[in-house]
Amino acid sequence: MRILIGLCILIFVGCKSNPEAQPQQKTKYVVVVLIDGARYSETFGDNLFQYIPRLHALQKHGTTLTSFYNDSVTFTVNGHAAVTTGVYETLANNGFELPKHPGFLQQYLYKNKLEANKAWIVSSKDKLAVLANCKDSVYANIDTPMTNCGNAGLHTGYRNDAETYNTAIQILKNYKPHVVFISFKEPDNMGHAGNWPGYLAGLKQSDAYTDSIFKFLNSDLFYKNQTAFFVTNDHGRHLDGIADGFVSHGDNCAGCKHIMLYASGPDFKSNHIISKKYNQTDIHATICKLLNLQANGGNVITELFK
Ligand SMILES: [Zn+2]
Ligand SMILES: [Zn+2]
Repeated sequence: MRILIGLCILIFVGCKSNPEAQPQQKTKYVVVVLIDGARYSETFGDNLFQYIPRLHALQKHGTTLTSFYNDSVTFTVNGHAAVTTGVYETLANNGFELPKHPGFLQQYLYKNKLEANKAWIVSSKDKLAVLANCKDSVYANIDTPMTNCGNAGLHTGYRNDAETYNTAIQILKNYKPHVVFISFKEPDNMGHAGNWPGYLAGLKQSDAYTDSIFKFLNSDLFYKNQTAFFVTNDHGRHLDGIADGFVSHGDNCAGCKHIMLYASGPDFKSNHIISKKYNQTDIHATICKLLNLQANGGNVITELFK
């Protein structure tokens, strides 16, 4: 009994002596879904949310940013690399040039000395495998995450999103990775084909896959209540009336620059909207804060946190 009283006093004094202690972050794992080439006017910029009904339904479980941007080159590899590395750099869009800086997946493996299958890049476009490595002298060819991209890796061509979705779910189930980056291609693919109904169908399909991944993470015992989930884009598409409109992208028009960000997780606010302007490099900075990594660039989106 005397020991118990002593222990109680110790706990009480211990708590009182550190009243400023921050509550521990609950996030242990991070999953990012990127929907390639979705224009904001067809995602959260559409008041009816016609093409992303499921993401709209998820808004009550997380935070949506209404002024989120690609602040640099509005092409695919550049936009993706800004999210993973936290730095905007001019980078070939064909998968032949590695980023200068490591992405958060490589940083995470390097810092924690984990086996490669604890971090994965899964994408329909093969060229995104370049996100696994970098030219940085410390990180080059070290602790690169696993990749499952395109038909059979870099320079083998694109595959369909159904395969990417199924592969991603299998990887989550089989390897229980701590950090995962998943990229769907269909809205961009159909946009470039000039197929407006196909573009809209691609958005709806990406919306459904994203929702299924969210539901998997929130029902799986390993991921539930300890996983941060981000949904964003690499770039939008030209506004109607600019160049060939929704078909292409790559300039500084508002359609190409304005994109979406949705984030949910145990440390993030629910049913919340942030209107302050942020950009893709800030996803990297925020993930680095969650995973206790040193960010290469960007600003932590502080308003996300409870
Ligand atoms: Zn793209
Ligand atoms: Zn444009």
